[in-house]
Amino acid sequence: VDLVSLSARVAPLGSELVLILVEDRTKERRVDAIRRDFVANVSHELKTPIGALSLLAEAVEQAADDPEAVQRFSGRMRLEAERLTRLVQQIIELSRVQGDDPVEEATPVPVDEVVVAALDRCGVDAQAKDIDLVHTGERGLVVTGNREQLVIALGNIVENAVTYSPEGSRVVVDVRRAAGDDSAGRHGDVVEIAVSDQGVGIPEHELERVFERFYRVDRARSRQTGGTGLGLSIVKHVAASHRGSVTVRSVEGEGSTFTLRLPLRAEPSAAETSPNTPS
Ligand code: ADP
Repeated sequence: VDLVSLSARVAPLGSELVLILVEDRTKERRVDAIRRDFVANVSHELKTPIGALSLLAEAVEQAADDPEAVQRFSGRMRLEAERLTRLVQQIIELSRVQGDDPVEEATPVPVDEVVVAALDRCGVDAQAKDIDLVHTGERGLVVTGNREQLVIALGNIVENAVTYSPEGSRVVVDVRRAAGDDSAGRHGDVVEIAVSDQGVGIPEHELERVFERFYRVDRARSRQTGGTGLGLSIVKHVAASHRGSVTVRSVEGEGSTFTLRLPLRAEPSAAETSPNTPS
């Protein structure tokens, strides 16, 4: 306990009795600090594309007589506007999942559907780099949760795999059932969705940090690829709110494997299974 965060209140209760209330405000103070930090980071990250846009607008005005230059500058303006849109989108997604509270309105979600939708989101980028997207492993597994959030989370992992891989390589999404504990320590079966790439990899000392908000291993490269540094922190929070986890293994220059682990939905009891369902 951070002693500074202890606040005490003393209330006299008659002549011989005194009530001392000691409150631990450590968590509150930590949440406040994280919030302040986040707002400062967001403002800083927004300033970059906004600054670029206003400089480019000036450049367009000055190049009014040179149609070629106008075209070049407006192309760059479009890229900056796309970057800004993506950043705002990810900030909104992150603020939705940040609390790590269990998902509201959890429904059965087929893992196959999540994988197909996540791969679909990255299809165009993969095709542009001639990257082979492969879906292997078990089919028919079901988890409980929020389908949209799970697709966003797995989509972010696959999107990174495509972004940080060379042309003509392959990205594999492998689905396995395994025994394990959920994040609350409850024992049961889990599904492991492992996304492997043959990309640039991540240096060992950076592995822990890639799940932090706005953290990018190589800021210059990430800027070129349009990265926001928020994708993996969204994944971490979605995993936590589904009582799951996300881990990474990587060898620099060889590739990375991100594994999303989620508790499987308990098998429906005999009473829930319709007798008319074909097997
Ligand atoms: P970004 O939007 O920058 O990709 P993320 O939070 O998704 O942000 O990822 C954080 C950083 O982790 C990235 O900037 C990148 O340096 C590194 N990273 C993530 N996935 C991979 C991967 N599959 N291969 C190599 N580096 C990766």
